[in-house]
Amino acid sequence: MRYPRGDGDTDGASLSGVADYPHPSSEGRSANMRANRRTDTKPELALRHALHRLGYRYRKDYRLDLDGGRRVRPDIAFTARKVAVFVDGCFWHACPEHGSKPRANEWYWGPKLIKNVERDRINDAALILAGWTVVRLWEHVPLDDAISAVVTTLAETVPGRSGRSGQSGQSGQSGQ
Ligand SMILES: [Zn+2]
Repeated sequence: MRYPRGDGDTDGASLSGVADYPHPSSEGRSANMRANRRTDTKPELALRHALHRLGYRYRKDYRLDLDGGRRVRPDIAFTARKVAVFVDGCFWHACPEHGSKPRANEWYWGPKLIKNVERDRINDAALILAGWTVVRLWEHVPLDDAISAVVTTLAETVPGRSGRSGQSGQSGQSGQ
C-alpha cells in the first residue's frame, strides 16, 4: 500500500506508518487498487535499505515456485540461506494490534482479509516445507527490531544448505 501523506523522508526509527493508514471506507475501489501495489511499501523499503547499508544482499520480490504450483514472493529473499522475509501491513494481514476490521463495507473486507491471513499461513507452510526459514514482521515493528530479527535469523542459517552436502561457494554474510 501507499501512504498518502508524506511525513516520510525523515530517516525515522520506526517501520510504522500506522497513524497514516488509509482506512478503507466507501472508497473501497481505490483502496483495492492500493492493495495491488504490493511492492515498495515504505516499511519494507526502510528495512531493505538498512540491510543493504549493513552489507546484506538480497532479492526483492523474488518469485519462488514451490510444490503444488504455489508461487510466493517474499518481500526480501536471501536465496543462498533460504531466508524469506515478509513485512506485513497491519491492516491487510490483520495485525492483532492495528488490524481491526473496518466497519464500512464489511461484506467486502471481511472475507478478503481472512483470505489474506489464510494465504499467509499456507505460504509459510509451503516455504518451510521447501527448506526456507520464514521471518514475518509487522509493519509497526520498530526498524531496529526488524533489522535484528533478520540479522539474527541469517546468523542462524547456513548458506547453500539446500540439498547440497557441503560447503557452499557463497561468500559469507554479505555474499547474497
Ligand atoms: Zn500493527
